[in-house]
Amino acid sequence: MGVCRTCAGALRGTTGLAWSMLGVHVLSQGAVKQRLEICRGCPEAVVCQHNAHQVCRCNACGCWLKHKTRLRRETCPKGKW
Ligand code: SF4
Repeated sequence: MGVCRTCAGALRGTTGLAWSMLGVHVLSQGAVKQRLEICRGCPEAVVCQHNAHQVCRCNACGCWLKHKTRLRRETCPKGKW
């Protein structure tokens, strides 16, 4: 199982979530969209229960993709982006 840098510890996970929500260290909308498109086609992505067209979580690292894909310093644990 891959380990996400932001989610490697509870504190770092919380920090990453805060950065994403505050818009700190985030990528452009286009770059985030590109990452999410890759995640949508990935077998590790968990589909959202409320919207089958969206992916919520990555099974490989456990991160919330909505936030993980926004953060500049994040990387895919499978090396896809
Ligand atoms: S972060 Fe990587 S491994 Fe996780 S769902 Fe996205 S493409 Fe797949």
